Amino acid sequence: MSNRTFTMIKPDAVKAGNIGNILQMINAGGFRIVAMKYLFLTKQQAEKFYEVHAARPFYGELTEFMSSGPIVAAILEKGNAVADFRTLIGATNPAQAEEGTIRKKYAASIGENAVHGSDSDENAAIEGNFFFNGLERF
Ligand code: GDP
Repeated sequence: MSNRTFTMIKPDAVKAGNIGNILQMINAGGFRIVAMKYLFLTKQQAEKFYEVHAARPFYGELTEFMSSGPIVAAILEKGNAVADFRTLIGATNPAQAEEGTIRKKYAASIGENAVHGSDSDENAAIEGNFFFNGLERF
């Protein structure tokens, strides 16, 4: 079990002005920010990041959406980070997300669902390395 996970505040939540609200929930959830940046992915970069989903029917929509506006990318630290962060964000489909979760509060649909959270320690490391080098982590 690792103590780090990776997140993105997705373009829908950035556009809606919810960066601050979501960071507030992340801090209140006990996560420490290890690294963070605000950036605008190209379609190619989004395709590379979501390569594991390339065969899924929503891959085109997902990568269009993720390159449609700026995002916030961050590495977060807490005991049991991956699982606890998945609990904090809620189900992929906000209609099925628990009350009090980030997606329940701020996501509109299964595709435009406000935040990303790594699904394993291995992917947390791969995804964090996609965005941050060693000098960008504190
Ligand atoms: P997550 O781990 O909860 O983010 O969910 P997945 O790994 O299953 O999917 C990755 C991302 O793809 C989700 O967060 C959504 O943004 C998107 N996604 C998943 N299912 C669908 C879908 O049915 N339609 C669309 N347009 N996007 C989807």
